[in-house]
Amino acid sequence: MTNIPRRGLMLVLSSPSGAGKTSITRAVLAQDPNLTISVSVTTRAQRPGEIDGTHYHFIDQATFDAMVRDDALLEYARVFGNSYGTPRAPVEAALAAGRDVIFDIDWQGTQQLHQRVRDDLVGVFVLPPTVDDLEKRLRVRAQDSDAVIASRMAKASDEMSHWPEYDYAIVNDDLATSIAQIQAILTAERLRRSRQTGLPAFVRALQAKL
Ligand code: 5GP
Repeated sequence: MTNIPRRGLMLVLSSPSGAGKTSITRAVLAQDPNLTISVSVTTRAQRPGEIDGTHYHFIDQATFDAMVRDDALLEYARVFGNSYGTPRAPVEAALAAGRDVIFDIDWQGTQQLHQRVRDDLVGVFVLPPTVDDLEKRLRVRAQDSDAVIASRMAKASDEMSHWPEYDYAIVNDDLATSIAQIQAILTAERLRRSRQTGLPAFVRALQAKL
């Protein structure tokens, strides 16, 4: 396949908790060798099954505050009483290496990234098919207390009110379809003329001969 040189893009996926965004993100990542995930730092407690350094970097509040002071985070926010942030260095390194980066962050982080990056940010909002489905998924997960689930349900409608701030919105009623839709978005966004930085090598070779 002939590739046209282009800048890396930043694909942000946001959704209310329980809409299935994490499953979509992991599947898209597994199928796309040019994609790197941004692993956030968080002060929230590690859940069973989560791996430090893979799902999050689990850190304490003092370490988080030091990262904020050192401008080591591209964006950060308080979500459900915990701090979350995107480490700057790995994102910059991936983009510089010509890779695309996928982010699983909330609308507050997306707004901050928008202020820093204009053209290379692609935002996708993942909606649950129904509110009942959202609650069911949060209960199936069953790793949080009832109080946390209730507060997440209450916040879900507030989070969903931010969907107009995104470039794309998908309804996750079937995982395979959602994965295909994200891949289609990635394919189209990678081919955007405005992201391409030079002519393909064969055209440059032809021009050099003339
Ligand atoms: P959870 O605790 O369920 O993994 O994530 C809670 C929420 O925090 C999710 O909506 C997730 O997208 C968001 N989140 C995770 N990492 C970050 C981050 O680095 N920055 C921001 N702004 N939100 C994040």
